[in-house]
Amino acid sequence: MLRAGEAIQIPQDVEAAAMNDPVIAEIESLLRWQHEHYGDLREGEVADYIPELTKTPADLFGIAVTLHDGRTVAVGDASYPFTIQSISKVYTFPMLLDLIGREGIYSLVGVQPSSDPFNAITLDPRTNRPFNPMVNTGAIAVAGRLREVLGPNAFEAILDTFSRAAGRALDVDEKVFESERQEGHRNRAIGHLLRAAGVFHASVDEVLDLYFRQCSVLVTAEDLAMMGATLSNLGAHPVTRDPVFGLEAVRDTLSVMFGCGMYDGAGDWATRVGLPAKSGVGGGIMGVVNRQLGVGVFSPRLDEVGNSVRGKLCCIHLSENLGMHPFDATNAGSSFFSAISGRR
Ligand code: GLN
Repeated sequence: MLRAGEAIQIPQDVEAAAMNDPVIAEIESLLRWQHEHYGDLREGEVADYIPELTKTPADLFGIAVTLHDGRTVAVGDASYPFTIQSISKVYTFPMLLDLIGREGIYSLVGVQPSSDPFNAITLDPRTNRPFNPMVNTGAIAVAGRLREVLGPNAFEAILDTFSRAAGRALDVDEKVFESERQEGHRNRAIGHLLRAAGVFHASVDEVLDLYFRQCSVLVTAEDLAMMGATLSNLGAHPVTRDPVFGLEAVRDTLSVMFGCGMYDGAGDWATRVGLPAKSGVGGGIMGVVNRQLGVGVFSPRLDEVGNSVRGKLCCIHLSENLGMHPFDATNAGSSFFSAISGRR
């Protein structure tokens, strides 16, 4: 268990090696380019359906990349804390999978992209279960089962898991939590729909409190990059080596992120960026390159489907320039690409 204020230390030899490393230098120049070229963009709106979120300064912009061995590059407002929101779904899903196994979790929630907005009040008509764990119906179903399995301490367990994935003790923004608790009527409707469909049997209010709390955990772009790197590193934290998630859980999480992580923008994302990724209405996007790295971007202005406008541009740019799309083999010339492929 991590305690507040306990930060992970990147070993000095790793830090020193990073300074002369061409891969790090290349990533750093890309992140600087993005910060300069996308910094003036004012497109998109800060989410306002959770009133407290409107208080976030709209033009903050931070980008971070963490390699699977913990080396990190960060630019801009990468240590500014904001609420994780839907990116929390990426971590409660493998947590529950590790607790109840595949059979248990797939009787609760599917793995199909829904083509609906993240907050749609619908179930898959074929199964009467949520389409997938990356939309609200699925994530609230997961929260419901976590509440049933872990009892009243479920939130402590969730916060501990998120903290282990980040490698530092995370905290909750109580104001954002209260704000969504007051105004989250669509999510309450989803809770009652799930309860009526027999997806969970716990109290709707308790399950929603758990879900709203998990969404209100404060992270930074650097945390998201590290949490992504934990998934990229087979579920073990790159620096602490803490095995946070099991291998099956990581495999399935990255798969549903790939297909369903970017809501109804998922197909466009899979084609343009090609990374398993997840966005949140707090302005965060977290992406993963399996066995290689995690990306975290924070920029609160969102597009019409609820993805960070600059965050999406950064991920496209990074993917194109580092040859990160899984089906892309055209980017010879990148030192990152050649280090992996042996091509020049
Ligand atoms: N807490 C938000 C909600 O449930 C999370 C949504 C999101 O980040 N897309 O509506």
